[in-house]
Amino acid sequence: MQRLQGIAVSPGVAIGEALVMGNEGFRIPRRFVTRDAVETELDRLHHALASSAEQIERNRDAIAHELGRQYAAIFEAHLTMLRDARLVDELDQLIRERQYSPEYAVSRVLRRYAKVFQQLDNSLMAERANDIFDIEQRILSNLVGRRREEFSKLESPVLILAHNLTPSETANLSREFVRGFVTEIGGAGSHTAIVAEALAIPAVVGVGNFLADVSGGDMVIIDGNQGLVILRPDEETIARYRQEAEAGRTRAEQLGQLRDLPAQTLDGTRIDLFGNIEFPNEVPACLERGADGIGLFRTEFLYLGSEFAPNEQDQFEAYKSVAEQMQGRPVTIRTLDLGADKVMPGRPDDEKNPFLGLRSIRLSLRNLPLFRTQLKAILRASPYGKLRIMFPLISTIMELRQARMILSDVMEDLDEHGVQFDRNMPVGMMVEVPAAVIMIDRFVEEVDFLSIGTNDLIQYTLAVDRSNKDVANLYTGSDPAVLKLIDMAVTAANKAQIPVELCGQMSGNPIYTMLLLGMGLRQMSVAPAAIPEIKKVIRSVNIAQCEVVAKKVMHLENARDVKSYLKDELNRLFPTDES
Ligand code: PEP
Ligand code: MG
Repeated sequence: MQRLQGIAVSPGVAIGEALVMGNEGFRIPRRFVTRDAVETELDRLHHALASSAEQIERNRDAIAHELGRQYAAIFEAHLTMLRDARLVDELDQLIRERQYSPEYAVSRVLRRYAKVFQQLDNSLMAERANDIFDIEQRILSNLVGRRREEFSKLESPVLILAHNLTPSETANLSREFVRGFVTEIGGAGSHTAIVAEALAIPAVVGVGNFLADVSGGDMVIIDGNQGLVILRPDEETIARYRQEAEAGRTRAEQLGQLRDLPAQTLDGTRIDLFGNIEFPNEVPACLERGADGIGLFRTEFLYLGSEFAPNEQDQFEAYKSVAEQMQGRPVTIRTLDLGADKVMPGRPDDEKNPFLGLRSIRLSLRNLPLFRTQLKAILRASPYGKLRIMFPLISTIMELRQARMILSDVMEDLDEHGVQFDRNMPVGMMVEVPAAVIMIDRFVEEVDFLSIGTNDLIQYTLAVDRSNKDVANLYTGSDPAVLKLIDMAVTAANKAQIPVELCGQMSGNPIYTMLLLGMGLRQMSVAPAAIPEIKKVIRSVNIAQCEVVAKKVMHLENARDVKSYLKDELNRLFPTDES
């Protein structure tokens, strides 16, 4: 049994068989062969080893010819390893004596070798582990051949263990069979983490190197509450976690009883509790939990979740479907927030600082046909419900004006063609760049509502990459600088009497609920799974009490004190809860 600590990004407990995603996405399940098949399987292994050696020789010769012998040395090293009698003997033995499948034997042995290199206190040596992974992948590809099982074509429940999953890979995970995932890299604010929450599957990211320690088919527990991963757990641990999973289900059922009750404080202040979605099929999850509307529809996932870019009609249908399903409740559609970590598969990734690069509204403004198509689709869908439109990552007034101008232009076009749309559809902006907060008094004069995106606001305020595990300890909404900016935005909106919501992950974390209410926030938009818990906090407090909390917090000077004070306050509110 081995315990690994990572960053908890999506709550819950999952217990099951591992599906290890190597660089090429091979599935390496723990399989055994029958005694009768041992000789044939040994033949298959030797065949694969021979083919791998031939391919490496060809690569060696080609590189030697192009660049010279010294560059071919790397392949020579691969060949030496592949022909190492000790390695081949060990593989033979595992197949003959333990009846492992050749795939499983190769994966197990080579991953053990790679781990030895990784543990050497020498970065050059540690990099050699990649050579071993390379050899492993080559042998596997020769062994598996056409039997390679595609990631998306799973047939039984699995827990995915991967070095990294991009947001689009995560969005494409099989909802039926993927019960949780763990990645070696990634941070709490990454879109991969956000999608995990949307899928409502337990997930842990930023665990560090561990793939060399597991094989496909190994039993694994993912504890998405504590950020723990347990490889090959013993019976006692499995039993304990089964109990915990059961307790989680009971708790969810109890919270489910809040569904039809309003998100209202004890003194009668009504809070709008909205859901965040990436796809139209998440709407039922919001309705089941009694969402007051959709506070954030991340439309870029329509691009990330499919092989082909959606055309105007595809987008129109998606927006119309959400508007109709929500039956008159407000739906905020955010225009494309592509770029940074949300890139379409196969797109070259050549930006040095993608989070500071051509992303989001900047990308839309540089690509007017793309932007206009989306605006048209949103406007066409507007008569089918209560839509609002929102621009992401606005940093300057000029950007906002430019986006609004294009919107007016598209409206004129639709008018000319006699297309119906809601002319008074509210237009808002996301507040997720410190510059926007600094200039917020100007912005509130030019928009109908604000939506605070703390996921980005935290990273841009504190200069901390939201998806980097190595700085994850610095990435926190508890930082007083972040809280000051949120407070400024909420105050400015309230003064200008325009609605303001908070749609970053912070509003789905119950430790912040009292603070945000105390700051004067009356609209929150959270992952659907978080709605019941946040509603429970809202229904258990009064505004005066929250204002005391906010006042106290705004006098604290560091994130640690803020977090520990807020946790204590929440524990005081629900003394028996574990949270
Ligand atoms: C945010 O930045 O807080 C936000 C809601 O947008 P996203 O997470 O999609 O960047
Ligand atoms: Mg954002």
